Order: sequence, then C-alpha cells, then structure tokens
Amino acid sequence: MEFRKNDVITLEIEDCGIDGEGIGKADGFTVFVKDAVIGDTVRAKIVKAKKNYGYGRLLEVLKPSPYRVEPKCPYARQCGGCQLQVLSYDQQLAFKEAKIRGHLERIGGFQDIPMEPIIGMEKPYHYRNKAQFPVGKNREGRIITGFYAGRTHTIIENRDCALGVSQNKEVLDRVISYMETYGAEPYDEATGKGLVRHIFIRYGFFTGEVMVCIIANGKSLPHSEKLVEALREIPGMTSITLNVNRSRSNVILGEELHLLWGQIYITDKIGDISYQISPLSFYQVNPLQTGKLYAKALEYADLHGEETVWDLYCGIGTISLFLAQQAKFVRGVEIVPAAIEDARRNAVLNKIENTEFFVGKAEDILPREYEKNGVYADVIVVDPPRKGCDKMLLDTILKMQPKKVVYVSCDSATLARDLKYLCGNGYELKNVCGVDQFGNTVHVETVCLLSNRKRKPDTYVKLSLDAEDYYRFRDAEDKAND
Ligand code: SAH
Repeated sequence: MEFRKNDVITLEIEDCGIDGEGIGKADGFTVFVKDAVIGDTVRAKIVKAKKNYGYGRLLEVLKPSPYRVEPKCPYARQCGGCQLQVLSYDQQLAFKEAKIRGHLERIGGFQDIPMEPIIGMEKPYHYRNKAQFPVGKNREGRIITGFYAGRTHTIIENRDCALGVSQNKEVLDRVISYMETYGAEPYDEATGKGLVRHIFIRYGFFTGEVMVCIIANGKSLPHSEKLVEALREIPGMTSITLNVNRSRSNVILGEELHLLWGQIYITDKIGDISYQISPLSFYQVNPLQTGKLYAKALEYADLHGEETVWDLYCGIGTISLFLAQQAKFVRGVEIVPAAIEDARRNAVLNKIENTEFFVGKAEDILPREYEKNGVYADVIVVDPPRKGCDKMLLDTILKMQPKKVVYVSCDSATLARDLKYLCGNGYELKNVCGVDQFGNTVHVETVCLLSNRKRKPDTYVKLSLDAEDYYRFRDAEDKAND
C-alpha cells in the first residue's frame, strides 16, 4: 500500500535506525519515527513519503514499550543534543553494540566479529565536562541561552542540561545577568550584528577547576571587569577568557584568545596523567569513560617497554602520554598547532621524556617520515575524526607493516570502511570493543585491535567508498527510491 504526506498511521516499532529513530512497518511500507522506541505502538503522521518508505512524526504513544523510560530533561524531544533519553540505558547500550556490529558486517564485510561486551557508563547523566551554549533573543527580546533544536539554529532555552555539570547553570545565570545589566548584546546570525555568540564552559572532573570562555564578535566586552567579578565568586573558577570570532560561519571558536582573569588553561586528569587544556584544544568530553577507552587501547597495544609507537591524530597527546608509560618511544601527529603545544607541555608536566610530537596532517607526516627517515613502528594507534583515515595514511601503514594497529573511532561506519582495507591487505581483526562515552545520544566510541598476518601481494583489496561517498551513496539511495 502507498502512503502520502499527512496520512496518519498506526505502527508497531520493531527496530532502531542509526540515528536512534524508531522503525516500523505498515503494509510493507517502512516508516522512520523520531522519538519512538522499539516495542512502542504509536500513531504517527507521515511528513515525507517515498515509494517504499517514509518519515513520520510521533503523534501519540498508544502502547509504550517496556524499554521506554521517563526522560530526565523536559526538553529532550526538542533539543538536538540527546536522541535516546526515552530509551532505557541497557537498551541504549544494546543499540550501540548493534550499530557497531551492523557497520562492521555491512560496510566492512566482516563475519564472526570478535566483539567484547560494550563498556557502559555507571551514570549516563551529568558526564560532559564541556558545553558550548549559544546566546540569542526570544520573540519578546529577552536574552536566552540553551541548545539548538535538532537540525536548526533555534535556541531551546535551558540552562541546566542533564548531560552537563551543575556548575553550568551558575555560570550561565551570571553571564546573562551581566549581559542584561551592561548592554552586551547577543550576536545575531541573520544580520551578523551583536557581540556575544557562545558561552563555553569546561570543568575539570578530577580537579574541580572551571573554565569560562566568552566567544564574541569583537575584541572586548563592555565592563568586562564586572563579568570577571561575578564569575570569580564561583568555586573552582580558574580561567576566564575572551575568544574573538568575527566570521559569519557556523564555526564556534575563533583563533584569537584574550585572558580576562586567572590563567589560560585548566588542568584535569585521565588515569595517572595530568593534562593542561586551553579553550582551543580538543579534549575528550567524558574523562571517566575516556580513561576506560584508553585502558582498553593500552591493553590491545600490549606494550612491554621495548616498542616504538606512533599515535596519529593525537590531539593534546592524551593517548600518546598514556602509551609512553609502557613503550620505549611514542611519536604523536596532530594537525592543530595549539594542541601540539599542549601535548609538549603535558609531556613535561608529567615528566615523560620518551615522546616527540609533530604538527601536520597524519597523511603527510607519516609518509614523509617513512620515505625520508625510514621510521619504524611496532604499534600504530589512530584516533581520527568522523571521516576516518586518509587513504594515503592507510597505504603508509601497510608499507610500514607494524605488528599491531589499534584503531580508536568515533564513527563506526568509516571505521568499518578502513578496517576492510587494512584487513584486505594483511591485517586481521582480533578484538572490537565499544565504549559508551556519550550516554543518551546515538554516538559511540569503538576500539579495535588489528594484528599483522603478513600480506600476500595477490590478495590486495582496493579501498571501498570513502566516508563522504558513503553518505552520498545513502543520499543517492534515497533519490533512487523516490
Ligand atoms: N587522540 C586524541 C584526539 C582525537 S580527536 C584524544 O584522544 O584526545 C581527532 C583529532 O584529529 C583532533 O585533535 C583533530 O584536530 C585531529 N585531526 C583532524 N584531521 C587530522 C589530520 N588530517 N591529521 C592529523 N590530525 C588530524
């Protein structure tokens, strides 16, 4: 049967899509319904209809699933931050494990996947150490802050996000009250006018240190001393900075940073290692689970003090310093110069002397060092952004033939693509473990161990779709079904 836009249908939700949406079938027609969960019977209105499938908006839960729970946050449905708050945490973990497995099977072509049980969180709330709150005005002209609604830049007003730390609200209350009193206007994306764009807050879970960075469309704030006065009273306040971003783009942080009070960085710990983190550097948002992720990566690397290790996409050297405690020498590569400055400082701070850091693209530095200086690796660790590893990098890894590759990934689709390439060319997938760093969202980290089983030249496999192709491929599939 065919359905049209605006039809209202009743559905049993039988599956969960990769973005957390419920999937049900009505007369062979598949419907994706955001906010519906496996086991629900729902009434949904078709908002978009293709030949065999469509998208529905949840109107009513007729019979709730046994996995359905009360969301902690009253804005869970509108806000773009969480996708799975109405699903019990056990089921969230099952969903994430199935997502990793599904990608490895479908994109990677793997069977009999050596998967360990996913490592979940003890408490899937209030775990984020970082939040970036956009600032704007509501219809009545009142200054508001919160999070963007899914896929739009409409601000859902909320100063007390259930994933963030309790300190966020105190900071936001004080910044907004300062803005109201001293006429610091919020930035308006539509006109490019106004001053305050985002309020960036970071909290050191292990040190209690608080960082506030005001991201502004200008080099100074009116009466910034009043803002500093108000923020300094918050226990743990360590760093207050102003970041200048005059671009008309969606990029949150600019490159220019001014210290308003205290110091430019806060300190935090993962495992036994301390890290100094500035507002511009990448730092894992859930340090507790990150500790578990790195411990798994370290376990997979199985170091005995003799090994030479490369840590590619190393950020501020978090994994590198972890590994350096058990390796002979670790070399890290990262594209952001400020992060490498942090990495070098962090090595000194922790009295770790067996590391060296390079600024640049992993896919440029590693081939250069390999071709020119013949560098060697026993173990290569990669932790790329969502688009996965560059092909040039994978080719260099294949040339270098390290005994082990430890792949840490935040996107299991591109992970599967890259593993297919490495495993088609001499590596074997030994272990896979999901680590949930982002409870209540659809995101999941995965760590994998590959070991070298000597490549046979005649079995060389070509790299399949790259990440963007993969998404384009999905779009094309959509169009083909139109
Ligand atoms: N391993 C680090 C950071 C992982 S996030 C940690 O655990 O904290 C991915 C990192 O890759 C980011 O710091 C990003 O700046 C960096 N990056 C992105 N593209 C890169 C490239 N082509 N070469 C090197 N680093 C890159």
